Formats: sequence, structure tokens, C-alpha cells
Amino acid sequence: MAARRRHRHLILGAGASGLALAAGLTRRGVDAEIVLVDRRVDDARDRTWAAFAGDGLWPAGAERRRFTAWAMQREGEVVRGSSRRHPYCLIDAPALFSGLLHEAGPRVELRLGTAVLGVTRTADGWVVRTSDGEIEADSVVDALGPSSPLLAERPRGLFQRFTGFEVQVEHPVFDPGTAMLMDFDWPQDPSGGVRFCYRLALTPTRALVEDTSLTAGPALPTHERWEAVAAWLDGQGAGAVEVLHRERASLPMTATWPAHRLAIPTVGAAAGALRPSSGYGLVRLLRHAEAMADAIATGRDPLSVPAPGQASLRPLDGIFLRALHDEPERFPEVFVAMARRLDDEAFVRFMSDRAGARDVARMIASVPRAPFLRAAAALRSAA
Ligand SMILES: Cc1cc2nc3c(=O)[nH]c(=O)nc-3n(C[C@H](O)[C@H](O)[C@H](O)COP(=O)(O)OP(=O)(O)OC[C@H]3O[C@@H](n4cnc5c(N)ncnc54)[C@H](O)[C@@H]3O)c2cc1C
Repeated sequence: MAARRRHRHLILGAGASGLALAAGLTRRGVDAEIVLVDRRVDDARDRTWAAFAGDGLWPAGAERRRFTAWAMQREGEVVRGSSRRHPYCLIDAPALFSGLLHEAGPRVELRLGTAVLGVTRTADGWVVRTSDGEIEADSVVDALGPSSPLLAERPRGLFQRFTGFEVQVEHPVFDPGTAMLMDFDWPQDPSGGVRFCYRLALTPTRALVEDTSLTAGPALPTHERWEAVAAWLDGQGAGAVEVLHRERASLPMTATWPAHRLAIPTVGAAAGALRPSSGYGLVRLLRHAEAMADAIATGRDPLSVPAPGQASLRPLDGIFLRALHDEPERFPEVFVAMARRLDDEAFVRFMSDRAGARDVARMIASVPRAPFLRAAAALRSAA
């Protein structure tokens, strides 16, 4: 009689959430085979994360730079904030991936170059169809990201779309002490969304400069994004420019994620970890992966793990997105008002999913009311 193979946890997708889940299972001493499959073939640097530091959420050594100050700019006015306790941290993908893989340990098997094609539940587990044949498993978690092919529906509506350019310039034009979160003194998006520039300086002559749109319209071509960045650099007197790295994203902004969560346990961006109102996802997905690891390690049903993010903020996110969709032209004012009127620690808590009821009340009091009242009324009448 064939020996039964060891209990196997199969994680689909070895991005940040899949790797964080594997690391979380290892940390909890899960004594089963853990296999990660991903269609990518290397740890190519395809993204630079940034988030306000939170309680050892990412492996030490994954950070490239810390900013204790941040700013937003509109019509020449710069609104500044700062926090020594919760600096804004720049993290790049290979460093985070290798840190998480190290935490996951040598017992975890990583199968790269393997595309997931479909998943079927069987009487005693799961069968996953891949480009390398079928894999049987006792538990399966979808960590395939916001475009997971296993999602029941494609996300629709607003997207955060951006192209980032890491540039080396001739003359010092960047402020390495301050993260520029949103500079609205920037060309506007022809599709009618909100467009701004995001800048993280590594040195006075080197920075990640991102041209970003929050829009329901199509993606701007990369050359148009570059024209805006190049014109800004020129206006600052940057001199000669070399582009060292480029990254792009098209992240769904939705408060009602079309998940298949009821059928397949899901973690990270595939489970709706991208914050609807900002597109930030790293903090949420790392916390969600921890919650999923905890459920699996303690034998709880992984389908019972709550969706990522603060449930109490979801109705507000819905109103925010509707207002952003209907009146994008008001949003430079809304974002800057939030940064100006919230105290710095409350702003950080709000941005990193740690807002309490008082923070939410302060946030509501800080922004112009009219667009949100109209959005809430529109949502009520559509319900
Ligand atoms: C360029 C960029 C910059 C970002 N910057 C920030 C930031 O600064 N701060 C922040 O908080 N958030 C940021 N985000 C948002 C969010 O944190 C990321 O989207 C996050 O990487 C999501 O992680 P994930 O593991 O859930 O999904 P993903 O990173 O999308 O990982 C999914 C994995 O599944 C694999 N995969 C997909 N389909 C298949 C398939 N059919 N078969 C096999 N493998 C498959 C992919 O190769 C990938 O490795 C950024 C996103 C991007 C794209």
C-alpha cells in the first residue's frame, strides 16, 4: 500500500502575502510540508513599498530608508508632518522577499516558474492545476494578488495607476529628509481623475518619482508620465537625468471586493488588502497573513479569517470612493485638509490602519463635508 504523503499546505503566489504566510506558519512551528508556487522566475525588483513603521511587521534589513517627515503640496502651499516613533519606511521587493523567505526557513519549498490554472475541492483536500501538472494538498490559500485568476469577478471602478521612475540627476533638487506623499501642483489626468506626484528621495540627487492617478479611466501611457516627471525635473534645475529603475501599478480601489473568499481561503491583495481609499496594502497584507497563519496553525477554519483591514472603516471607505469618483476635483483640497488638520500621530494611525473612533471623528471633522454628504446620499438612493 502506498504511504500517505505528509500533510501539505499549498500557498498559491509567492508575493509578499504568500511569503509572509509561509514565514508565519514556520514561526508557529507548523509541522507539515509547506509549498509555495509562483509563475515568476526570479526576485526581480518590480516594486518599492513604503509604509509608516509598525511594530516589527517586516523583517529587519528590508528597509532602504526612513523618513521622519512627510509633506503634501497644493497651489504652492506645503503642509508638513513628522513622527520619530512611526517613520515612513522605504522597502524594496528583493530585500523583503529574501527576509521573509529566510524566516520561512529551508523546510518551505518554493516552486517558481509554475503558473496556477485552477483549483478544485475534493472530498479530502484540494487539487491545483498548474503549468507543471496537478498538485494535491490538504489546505490551499490563494495569495495570487489583485489580479488572481481565481477571483469570481474582475475588480471594477476606480484604480490607483502609477509609473515610478528612480532617477539619478546631476544637481541636488530632492529633499532626502521628507517624503512628498502628494504634490498636486502637477498636470491633471485627462480622464478626469486626481493626479499627483509622489517623491521619495534617497539622496539630494537620487529619488523615486511617481506620477500617480486615482481614476476610473484608462492608464496614461508611460511616455506621458515621463514627460510630466521630466518637465518637473527640468523646472527644478536637475540637469542631466538617468533613469535607474521603472515600476508600474494598476491597483483596484474598491470597498466591495469581488472575492471568492467563501470558497477558497485567500490572503493579501487577492482578499482585498489594498486600502480602498489609498491603495496602501503592505501593512494590511502582512497583518492578514499573520491572522491566516494563526488560523491554520491552530486548526481553525481559514475561511473564518476576517477580511483584511479595519471593518469599522469600510462604510466610510465606500463613501470616500463614491465622492472621489463623483467629484475628483475636490480631492486635492480633501487630502491636504486631512494632513493639515489631523495631528501627526493621528494621521499616521489613520494611514496605517490603526485609527480609533476618535481618530475617525477627527478625520471626518477635518475634511470639507459637502462632497461626502452628497456621496452618502447617492449611495443611499442607489441601495
Ligand atoms: C509597483 C507597486 C508599488 C506598490 N507600492 C506600495 C507601497 O508603497 N505601499 C503599499 O502599502 N502598497 C504598495 N503596493 C500595493 C501592495 O502592497 C502590493 O500590491 C502587494 O505587493 C500585494 O501583495 P500580494 O502578495 O498580495 O500580491 P502580489 O504581490 O501581486 O503577489 C502575487 C503573486 O502571485 C503570482 N501570480 C499571479 N498570478 C499567478 C498565476 N496564475 N500563477 C502563478 N503565480 C501567479 C505573481 O507572480 C506574484 O508573485 C504597490 C504595488 C505595486 C504593484
